[in-house]
Order: sequence, then C-alpha cells, then structure tokens
Amino acid sequence: MHVWKFGGTSVGKPERMQSIRTLITEDNTRKIVVLSALSGSTNTLLAIGEAIKANDDIEANAKIDSLKAHYDGFISELYNTPEGKAAGQQVVDKEFSFIRSLTSIKPFTLKQEKELVAEGELLSTQIFHAYLVEEGVPSTLLPALEFMRIDADNEPEIQYTQEKLAEMLPQYDNKQIVVTQGFICRNPRGEVDNLKRGGSDYTASLIGGAIRADEIQIWTDIDGMHNNDPRIVKNTFPVRELTFDEAAELAYFGAKILHPSTITPARMFGVPVRLKNTMDPSAPGTLIADRTSDQVFKAIAAKDGITALYIHSTRMLNAYGFLRRIFEIFEKYKTPVDMLATSEVSVSVTVDNIDRIKEISDELSTFCSLEEPDYDQTIICIVGNFSADNEGVAVRVFNAMKNIPIRMISYGGTESNLSLLVHSRYKAEALNALNEGLFSA
Ligand code: ADP
Ligand code: ASP
Ligand code: MG
Repeated sequence: MHVWKFGGTSVGKPERMQSIRTLITEDNTRKIVVLSALSGSTNTLLAIGEAIKANDDIEANAKIDSLKAHYDGFISELYNTPEGKAAGQQVVDKEFSFIRSLTSIKPFTLKQEKELVAEGELLSTQIFHAYLVEEGVPSTLLPALEFMRIDADNEPEIQYTQEKLAEMLPQYDNKQIVVTQGFICRNPRGEVDNLKRGGSDYTASLIGGAIRADEIQIWTDIDGMHNNDPRIVKNTFPVRELTFDEAAELAYFGAKILHPSTITPARMFGVPVRLKNTMDPSAPGTLIADRTSDQVFKAIAAKDGITALYIHSTRMLNAYGFLRRIFEIFEKYKTPVDMLATSEVSVSVTVDNIDRIKEISDELSTFCSLEEPDYDQTIICIVGNFSADNEGVAVRVFNAMKNIPIRMISYGGTESNLSLLVHSRYKAEALNALNEGLFSA
C-alpha cells in the first residue's frame, strides 16, 4: 500500500483537486491519501483566532465571511452534478457553522484555537471525498482524530497509530482510496491538537511507517528537494537521490519542502519517501531511501531563529564532567541543542527554542560563566558525501564563504553534514555564495 500526501497548493484550486483524482486512480494500487488544508486556509484560520482572542468580533466575522465565500466558489467549480454540489455545500455549511460558533466562546483558549485551525484539513478532506464519491471512485474517509495522537511531550504515538490502523483499515479492504487529514491529531487530554505547521508531511510518514507502506509520496508544487532554497537562490535544481540521513538533516535544518520530523518514521521502518510535483507529475522528483550517489556536495538548507550561548568553565583546565553537567541542564528543560563547538575551557551551543533560556542560564551560572547570547543567528547546513578520505570539502566551503563572517562550525559529527552558524543578515549572501562555490561547474 502507498501513502500519498498532497500539500496546500496541490489541493488549493478545484482543477488541482480534479487532477489529483486522476493521479491517484491512474494505477490500481491501494492508497492512503493524506490532504493538507487548501493553501492559505490555515493562515486565515489562525488570523480568525487572533481576531476572536482580541474580542474583535467584526473582524473575525468579516474574515469568516470571506473564507466561506472562497469555499462556496471552490465547490461551485469542483463538482459536476447537483448531487455532488449539494454534498459539498453541506460540508461547507456544517464546518462554517462550527467555525462561527467559536466566535461566541469566551475566553477563547488554545483548545479552541486548535479546534479552529483543524478545520482546514477537515474541510479539504470532506470536500475531496465527496468529489470522489461523485466520480464513483471506491473510497472512504478515515478520521485522523481517531488514529493520530501525541503524548504529553507532543511526540506522536506511532504504536497507537499502528494498532488503530490495524483495526480500522481491514474494514475498508474494498476501497481503493482511503482519504485522511494531515496535520491534526488528539493530545493526551483527548482534545484536538496538531503536529505543528507543515505537519501533514509528518502525518504521511507516520502512517507510512505504521502500516509499513511500500512507499510514501509527498506531492507538492516543486519537482523534489532542490540543492538549495529556491526562494532565495536562483538556478537551484532537483536532487534525484538522498539517503534518509541526508534528507533528515535538510528537513530539520530548514528545507521547507518537508516538515522537520518527516523522515524519522520513514527511516525507522525503512519506507522510501518520494517527493513529487503535482504540477508536473512526470518529473522524477527526489527518492529518499538507503542508497545514495557518491556526489560530494548534495544540497544546502538554512534554519533561522537560532540563539548561540557561550559557556565558560570557571574551573581549571582538564575538568572532566563539565560537558555532562551542561547537557543535563538542557535535558532537564527539554531544550535540544543543534550545534556544538568546544575548547578545553568553554563550550558554545545553539538552540532554536529559548522558552526556558532563563532557567537554563540560571542553572549554568552556578558553575559556569556565560557571555551575552547571540540572537538572530542562522544555521547553514551543507549535506553531502564527506567521508574522511574525501579531501578538499572544507576548503571549498570556506573559499565560498571567504567574505562572510562565520560564528561557529560543525564538521565531522556525521559523514554527511557540515554546518555553519552565521548572523541571519548574511543568510541570503551565504546561500548564494555557497551555491556558486559548490554547485556551479
Ligand atoms: P506544501 O504546501 O505542498 O506542503 P510547502 O510550501 O510546505 O508545500 O513546501 C514546498 C516549498 O518548499 C516549495 O515551493 C519551495 O519554495 C520550498 N522549499 C524550500 N527549500 C526547498 C528545497 N531545498 N527544495 C525544494 N523546495 C524547497
Ligand atoms: N495546513 C497545515 C499548515 O499549513 C499543515 C500542512 O499544510 O502541512 O501548516
Ligand atoms: Mg508543507
């Protein structure tokens, strides 16, 4: 069985939904089809939530009216029959009456905000499923809220998903297409929650891992993972093959095409992930699996919003146990460290979450001295085949970066990654310089 996920732009227009229907039924394989919300909907739902929180009912209702008008227009173009249109209209009317009911809930808490933002995926999947029914495609709609759950640390419970799907899927053996929502899940309190922005990719991979799918396909608006961020750098090109490790690094370090955690479940269960372009289905895209090409430089990604901490030992040289004590504090406050540089008496680390920085700094200060952190930093992650006998890797990177100040370097942690920390003001310049230095002939 395959799991195919279609992102916001891939379902964002009626004609796109129609072409997806053709894509998923062209061959006879059984598929779980995971859909995102229509492009723009999640942002609009969040903006409606902000207006409700600010008690600005006029603004909230105006935004709801305009979003509803968008969906009314969408369904009037999607369906071909009066029955299809009526089914679609029923979905839209039902979900919008729920959305409107949220405006009268005071106080409007995070719980309601999560229910509101889940409406994007609830709408897209029901609208699409009604379209499949109209078209006579044997399909069913499986509610993600019945099999996707996160734990108290916001980590998906894949074992739960595995058990639930093993129970639910056999009931629909006669359906070629099983449609479900990306992004949304329940939390340990049984409330509606989500896997964070861009989380539909993660849903697809969690399902793919849970059912040991033959393949997970992520369909989006670009022909695979490019060698650099196409929003910032001209002349990027698709990378045909990546290993799970390479793709995981790129996703984690900012390649927006994949949610940062997407690769984890696929890698755990060895399910290949293929990135494909809905606008150009015949393009080969990118295959993420165990094998790789021996090309030295494969791709570059960048992650913003990084803070660097500089920690000095107040003890003498040669003090062992120093690193352990530092990392225990980050562990205690559940704050992952991304990059690390050490000398005998000091350590620099980067974090992307500064929610607990005050507590971390206070505890570190009991046995270390701390410099003022550097905010607004960017990690630039270069992925490739950097095995120890591949000479000249660092020199090419540093040559490309010769005019850009580098704050930290990490090389040798794996054979596939070299990371640099720069101030975010140099990000675009660095990505372009590296593209020129590492990828132009
Ligand atoms: P979807 O809505 O389908 O999930 P996203 O907007 O989340 O799509 O991801 C696709 C976008 O990711 C592309 O349009 C592209 O602008 C951006 N992107 C950033 N870095 C990369 C990269 N290295 N390769 C491909 N796309 C990238
Ligand atoms: N609709 C959600 C978002 O916009 C999830 C996704 O598209 O993957 O973040
Ligand atoms: Mg996305």
